[in-house]
Amino acid sequence: MQCGLLGAKLAHSYSPQIHQSLGNYSYRLFEVEEAHIAQFLNNTDFRGLNVTIPYKKTVIPFCQQLSPQAQKIGAVNTIVRRDDGTLIGHNTDYFGFMSMAQKSGLSFTGKKVLVLGSGGASNTVCTVLKELQANYVVISRNGENSYNHLHLHQDCAIIVNATPVGMYPNTGISPIDLSLFPKLEGVLDLIYNPAKTKLLQDAESRHLTAMNGLWMLVAQAKESAQWFTGCKIDNSHIERIYCALQTQMRNIVLVGMPGCGKSTIGHALGKALNRPFVDADDEIVKTAGISIPEIFVQSGEAGFRAIETQVLQQITAKSGTVIATGGGCVTRSENIPLLRQNSIVIWIQRPLEALPVDGRPLSQANMLGLLYEKRRPLYETASDWAIENKDSIEDAVDKILVKLTGEHP
Ligand code: NAP
Repeated sequence: MQCGLLGAKLAHSYSPQIHQSLGNYSYRLFEVEEAHIAQFLNNTDFRGLNVTIPYKKTVIPFCQQLSPQAQKIGAVNTIVRRDDGTLIGHNTDYFGFMSMAQKSGLSFTGKKVLVLGSGGASNTVCTVLKELQANYVVISRNGENSYNHLHLHQDCAIIVNATPVGMYPNTGISPIDLSLFPKLEGVLDLIYNPAKTKLLQDAESRHLTAMNGLWMLVAQAKESAQWFTGCKIDNSHIERIYCALQTQMRNIVLVGMPGCGKSTIGHALGKALNRPFVDADDEIVKTAGISIPEIFVQSGEAGFRAIETQVLQQITAKSGTVIATGGGCVTRSENIPLLRQNSIVIWIQRPLEALPVDGRPLSQANMLGLLYEKRRPLYETASDWAIENKDSIEDAVDKILVKLTGEHP
């Protein structure tokens, strides 16, 4: 049985992987230009299709029937070819967002919800929120409920981001300032790449419920797979696939004092987990074309930090890697969201007396103890958890593996 995803740019799609875990059918990516959509739908031999940006409306005239949800939302993200050759259009994003809203644990009934953006995803979100009896307001760049009128909505309890603001590769920006909403309980972001947008990191730092769109992506795929195969798939598969994807996608970033063992542990960890290992300092040297002490001599610490941020932007946007960072990367506030956006951040702690200072310009220039006192709160803020590296490297790697496995058995 032939199924697949129809869209304009699909290089970074997770759908083939998700569908492989959902059923026994082949799933291909179909990148098609708008002018060829009719020809594609009429002449391609497929049983089921997912449809993504920018064709969720374009395909509607080619469907002989629409499901009630597709009709209500005015968009189709799943097409099934029936035995008589006719096409029926569904909208499984509806189920996807409903499932995400339930999974978040937030209560929506009677609550004020701001939905950012007025595009296709916003329509789906609003249809679900109506069903959940939430009191929702769409915030758009234009019109009476624009970003200039947010003071009218200070009583909002939940924010849903249905804009692409903060999405890879334009990460590190947020569509809204959360400090405006004292009654806020949670933030849902439909974006799943990066795993933690700036908006979600802001929500987490305020101890609010924060959830990305990966659950929605998997849930809508499960519903689509049911339409493709005609067989019921238990909802427990959403959690299974979500956890597997989340673990596989995230980077493991090591932070800590210079000489605490980040590179050696990172290398060994990459081997143990069969993941690529990236050393930020090596990338800095490659980018600058000179050694780190030479960068300090030529450009000072500021010059070094500028290159470091540039390198972190590139390497933290990857997924599934192990990354060792330079000891001082936490001193620049703009680096913290980069470190955290796609990663679990582990602080490697080593007794100060065991830290080497050779070839480390800042460790030599500053008393190690003073340097540590300055950086300790920064490592704490940047990291998800810490391990001690006071015995062997193998022991430190084992500690990390045990903790990682414990999180996602
Ligand atoms: P879209 O139609 O291209 O854009 C959504 C809306 O975002 C636009 O209509 C616009 O609303 C607003 N917007 C666009 N650029 C903006 C900017 N620079 N600043 C502020 N607002 C901006 O996209 P969509 O299909 O609705 O998808 C929106 C997001 O949801 C995307 O990131 C997409 O990847 C994600 N999504 C995720 C899932 C999932 O399964 N997790 C499913 C569907 C979509 P205004 O003009 O009213 O401001």
